[in-house]
Amino acid sequence: TGSAKADAKEDPPARRRIRLTHPDRIYWPDAGVTKEGLADYYAEVWPNIAPFVVGRPLALVRCPTGIDGQHFFQKHLWRGAGKNIANIPDPSDPKAEPFLGINDLDGLMELAQAGVLEIHPWGAATADLYHPDQITMDLDPGEGVGWPALVTAAHEVRERLQAKGLTAFVKTSGGKGLHVVAPLKPKADWKAVKAFTKAMADSMAADSPDLYVSTIAKAKRRNRILIDYLRNQWNATAVAAFSTRARAGAPVSAPLTWDELPDISAANTFTTTTLPARLATLTADPWQDFRHHATPLRP
Ligand code: ATP
Ligand code: MN
Ligand code: MN
Repeated sequence: TGSAKADAKEDPPARRRIRLTHPDRIYWPDAGVTKEGLADYYAEVWPNIAPFVVGRPLALVRCPTGIDGQHFFQKHLWRGAGKNIANIPDPSDPKAEPFLGINDLDGLMELAQAGVLEIHPWGAATADLYHPDQITMDLDPGEGVGWPALVTAAHEVRERLQAKGLTAFVKTSGGKGLHVVAPLKPKADWKAVKAFTKAMADSMAADSPDLYVSTIAKAKRRNRILIDYLRNQWNATAVAAFSTRARAGAPVSAPLTWDELPDISAANTFTTTTLPARLATLTADPWQDFRHHATPLRP
């Protein structure tokens, strides 16, 4: 063993039962990554990504002709979607269009087949949509913010979560910023979780107004980091750990250890090629025990 991926020696690679049409279609022209390359990537990281994308509503960025073509932000099933992409009824409104989700590798492969280049899950599981099972603090660097400042911000968020008894994990977004994510036992409702994360963002901005802002106003963001807490509400999503991004270079949202954070140079460093290679060199996936650390948010 010793690999953070599926134990390649004991388990054969995840079986791909879903047939891909146009496997050679290029999704990321600059990186030369095809539909088949995307499916291979997801089959390889399936054991790692499964806990973050199975059993919760998903929003998808679907780019049938690749990152240079049209992008569709999809929260509901579309005509021609694979049969392993399932409806999830909206418990708040039986007449509303259902959400969508996947339950297994076949579902994930059907997302690749459909040109889904980003997977954005809810912060709550389908089993209990009213009570979030994770907090995501989305750190968005404004122009002029360097990597060390972003790392400092992530640590500050971590400390504030720890002060509440929560365990914080960190990942690149695959874009510009970092996501600090804490698993929750689904006890508190969205109102309480949103209020907690807003208070954290507001207090960081109040304590260090030169470093942080907690509101979206663009003008105030130059040289500052937006502590974006708005992922933490009903129907909001954030990109999944291990999801690819529909951006240049085929970057992925990469789970990191806190120790290595300063050594990474940018949030889009890891790609569909370099992330599996990196996992193979680690003794453990940095987010392997994520769910194990779930803690209730106490008032
Ligand atoms: P970055 O590090 O570049 O900020 P990010 O994934 O954190 O990458 P944000 O712009 O900070 O990107 O967050 C956008 C979030 O808003 C996404 O996580 C996504 O789930 C959500 N979202 C809501 N509507 C859309 C949409 N139409 N297109 C893309 N994302 C959307
Ligand atoms: Mn962000
Ligand atoms: Mn954001």
